[in-house]
Amino acid sequence: MANQMELKDALVELIRRASTHLPPDQMAALRRAADSEPKESMAQQTFEMMIANAEAAATSSTPTCQDTGTLLFYVDYGPEFRQRELREAIEAAAREATRRSYLRPNAVDSRSGKNSGDNTGIGAPYIHFEEEEKPGLRVRLMLKGGGSENVGRQYTVPDSEIGAGRDLDGVRKCIIDAVFKAQGYGCAPGIIGVGIGGDRMSSFLASKESLFRKVDDTNPDPELAKLEEQLTAECNTLGIGPMGFGGSTSVLGVKLNFRHRVPASFFVSISYMCWANRKATLLYRNGTAEFEQ
Ligand code: SF4
Repeated sequence: MANQMELKDALVELIRRASTHLPPDQMAALRRAADSEPKESMAQQTFEMMIANAEAAATSSTPTCQDTGTLLFYVDYGPEFRQRELREAIEAAAREATRRSYLRPNAVDSRSGKNSGDNTGIGAPYIHFEEEEKPGLRVRLMLKGGGSENVGRQYTVPDSEIGAGRDLDGVRKCIIDAVFKAQGYGCAPGIIGVGIGGDRMSSFLASKESLFRKVDDTNPDPELAKLEEQLTAECNTLGIGPMGFGGSTSVLGVKLNFRHRVPASFFVSISYMCWANRKATLLYRNGTAEFEQ
């Protein structure tokens, strides 16, 4: 097992980077969106403010948004690591990052409403573990804002209300409906993670996982790549624009992720990531930490 103090320090740095630095792909997507809007339009100025805000946050090492969100850790670990010790290191890092104001205290007891004050609690932070054969550790962190999480949706198709059947066109209708209903909430432009199939839980998990993809990547499956491109273009005809002020960019990308399902169920789960698309990765091996965004 790694030195717990060294690992905790590396995890604090992971949290700092995720909270205070938007990833380069997200910054580039915001820049492209700003440049695509008419000069001096509300949309163009809003995108410029987002970019200026993100740059200022990175320079001053302060959170990109006041809601530092739910901490979602995805941990792939080699045989030299133990889950219990990894969990302890992550919880210790969350406490330290809160103390240093990289995170707002954001974990609240669901019965009493009492804030734990340090971002730890029952099921907080959320940690998803995967054991690997090869040595080393990869920790991916996503900070998922509450406003964007609130506009996530899960559909059971067929859905007669929106005319969605059990096919890709039905999936398409669910996505358009979810993005349309998110307008005015969730801090557009969104990145839309979609879990298709699975059970209710694994479907949402698949939707969240897809949000770790780069904003501007291409799905390796040509059919899905085409569909993602079409869906992004279609969502961008809705006219919602940044923060709902109108414009030609309502979403920056749509990411599809499939699971097998039982014949009786067909879930389409949608996780909406806001413009403050905060993610970072720690690669840790032999006491050496590397970071990627
Ligand atoms: S939805 Fe995102 S950008 Fe909006 S307040 Fe929440 S974290 Fe911040």
